[in-house]
Amino acid sequence: MLTSKELGLKNYMEDIVLNKMPAILSTMKGICECERCHMDRLAYVLNNSPPKYIVTPKGKLYAKLSALEGQFDVDIVKIITEAAVRVDESPRHDEEDEELL
Ligand SMILES: [Zn+2]
Repeated sequence: MLTSKELGLKNYMEDIVLNKMPAILSTMKGICECERCHMDRLAYVLNNSPPKYIVTPKGKLYAKLSALEGQFDVDIVKIITEAAVRVDESPRHDEEDEELL
């Protein structure tokens, strides 16, 4: 039997989003590529995506992920596009953490 140290709890939606964002964003012209805007887009997408938690033996995650990924393509593309538009409309990269720029 696997112990809790050998099992992980994972929101695989996060991996799907991280996997899909670069290709989708690369099709959009003029979006800011600073770290703050990147993180704001990621937060927006994850806050607007249904979490999909799975319990997985460590190391088995990616086989399962690829099998499930296709089910979410359309919605994720839409949400990532929305995130890019929102962050572009009101970027927060001039607030507070200017040293990060
Ligand atoms: Zn920015």
